[in-house]
Amino acid sequence: MAYVIAEPCVDTKDTACVEVCPVDCIHPKKDAPEFATENKLYIDPETCIDCGACVPVCPVQAIFPEEELPEKWAKYTQIDADWFANK
Ligand code: SF4
Repeated sequence: MAYVIAEPCVDTKDTACVEVCPVDCIHPKKDAPEFATENKLYIDPETCIDCGACVPVCPVQAIFPEEELPEKWAKYTQIDADWFANK
């Protein structure tokens, strides 16, 4: 299980979540080259420890535990995983 960043993050990329993640698994960071070209942030499911710290700081409620992800945004589980798999 991991947390997933869904559609509300698209074109928002607030990054408050990046600041609070204790295991640094939310990318890209603001100073990374990909930050300008990606339209959302991603959680690495291999590294996420399911602490939930990122959820309340997101200003657009984009982050969910995988099992609570709204069905309409189900594809984002794979989108987040793929982003790290393709690194
Ligand atoms: Fe990071 Fe915790 Fe959010 Fe997982 S649940 S992305 S470990 S802050």
